[in-house]
Formats: sequence, C-alpha cells, structure tokens
Amino acid sequence: MNAPEKILLAAPRGYCAGVDRAVVTVEKALETYGPPVYVRKEIVHNRHVVEALRAKGAHFVDELDEVPDDATVIFSAHGISPAVREEARRRGLRVIDATCPLVTKVHLEAIRYAREGYSIVLIGHEDHDEVIGTLGEAPDRIFVIAAVDEVATLEVPDPEKVAYLTQTTLSVDDTRDVIEALRKRFPKIVGPSRNDICYATQNRQAAVKRLANDVDLLLVIGSANSSNAIRLVEVARTAGTHAHLINDVGDIKSEWLEGARRVGITAGASTPEVLVTQTVEALRGQGVPVREVHVVEEDVRFALPQELARMAEERGMTLPARTAMRQTI
Ligand code: SF4
Repeated sequence: MNAPEKILLAAPRGYCAGVDRAVVTVEKALETYGPPVYVRKEIVHNRHVVEALRAKGAHFVDELDEVPDDATVIFSAHGISPAVREEARRRGLRVIDATCPLVTKVHLEAIRYAREGYSIVLIGHEDHDEVIGTLGEAPDRIFVIAAVDEVATLEVPDPEKVAYLTQTTLSVDDTRDVIEALRKRFPKIVGPSRNDICYATQNRQAAVKRLANDVDLLLVIGSANSSNAIRLVEVARTAGTHAHLINDVGDIKSEWLEGARRVGITAGASTPEVLVTQTVEALRGQGVPVREVHVVEEDVRFALPQELARMAEERGMTLPARTAMRQTI
C-alpha cells in the first residue's frame, strides 16, 4: 500500500455518548445476568461492535418472538415503537431500554405534536430503525420524507396544522434545505425549538467539512447501514473530496491511495477507536506525520438505563452512574 505524506485525523470522530451508553449497557447486562442476553436489532450499527458483543454472549434478534419468555432483552440505541414495548410488557420480558436519550427526545416531540392535532412530517429514511420507532408513536399522523423533491407532493389533512421532526443522523445541509422547502409550502409549520439532528452528527460533519479541503482522500470508517457514517462520506464528496466508507482497514483499495498525498480519516458515531488506530497504523509509513484537526470538544455523557441500575442493585452490584466513553469494543 502506498504510504501518504501526511495523515489528518478528524476530531471529534467515532463513538458518541449514545453509542457508548448502549454498548456499556449490553456489557453490564452480561456481567449482571450472565449470558445469554437478548438484544433486539443491532445495538448500534457497527459490525465490529455487534460481533464483539456476540462473542461475549449477546444474542441479536430481529423481533421479540425470537426471545424466550424468561429472558432479558435490550432495546437498541435507535429506539423502538410503542407496539414493541407493549409486546415485551405483555410477555413479561425483563427489559433494558438502551434507546439514546436524544432519540427519546424526538419520540416525545412526536407524541406532543400528535396530541395537539398536528400532522407531522418526519424527515428521515423510512427503512432506518430510528424512523420506524418514531413512526410507531403516531402512525396515522406521521408522514416520512427523505428529500426536498418530496415536499411538493406531500398531502396532509390540514396544511395550517403541520409540524416537522427529523431523524437524528441526517445531513445538516440537506435537512436545512428540506425544512426551508417545508416552510415555503406550509408557512405555519412548527418544529422543535432545538434541531433534532444530534450534537454528535453535527460535530462529525463539521469536522469533515474542515478537513475536506486539506486532504486528497477521506476514509470514513463505519458500517454500510450506519446513517451518520454514510452522511460523512456525502459531506466530503459534496466538498469535492474523494471519500470512501470502509468497515475497517481491510477494505482499503490500493488504487484509492495512488496520488493521495494527504489522507484524512474519520469514523461514524458507532465506530470504535480501535478501528481508527488500526487504519492509521496500516497507512503510516515511517516518519509520516499524523495530525488531529479539532473542531470542537465533546463532553456529553448519558446515565446508564435505570432498569439496568435497578437490576444490578438487586444483585448487590454497583454500576457507574454515567458511562465515561470507555470505547471498550
Ligand atoms: S448518533 Fe446521536 S442520536 Fe444516535 S446514539 Fe449517538 S448521540 Fe444518540
């Protein structure tokens, strides 16, 4: 592999507070109960993380009917619809909800707007777990759109009573355009007081924008089903920079590196730092400088799910009140 002359690392990159919390939740549940612990859907969208947790005894399932009656089940960081929560309650499953608090915020907004009689335009990707979960809060009132050109054909019962929400991991720029088009079409539209696109998504995109003009090639480490990682590739390409999404260092094609003197590296919010370190080590020829380009410091941490703390306490174990971005996997 051709070694570049310089490697620039985007910062922040990789794990966000919601992913860290979800991963630690599965690890702590395994410690508290011992395997198997069931996880509905991928706990976070990263193949490496899912495989590492599977090796420790986590069983990943698509739906609750794959979970035995007396088992513990963890809901993923992307959230669930109320129907899934209700099914778990009806079956008497022991539930730990690792939904990211920033996703829960969007669910609560959906519930509030629906209760107030609004039609809700949810900007997002209809096949993403997060959107499926949010849609479940008010399926009769929510209209999912992904792009500006869908605004013109949108049919809502009352154009005077429309609200919008967004998936947490969209492109900041594309979403701004969609919201602008919605405002033109529905002048009375209302939205959340603070953007639903989460801090981690915004910061990682800002770091890529800063880096894009300084590199010939950007490598984004993340899984193909990770929305926020895909958006990082799009942001770099929009800036005119060659960019590729890779699961890990093994995906790098040597032709990408031909003529790429300065290579940038970043990672989606569900990518552990170890994959970044491996990529840097593989690309780094002797004496090749590696520099971090910092855009913003992040110090967001979330408390672990209350159910987990309660279950651990019943077994005489103590858990940390908050995760500390351990990047264990
Ligand atoms: S990307 Fe944002 S919304 Fe998703 S888990 Fe991380 S912090 Fe939460």
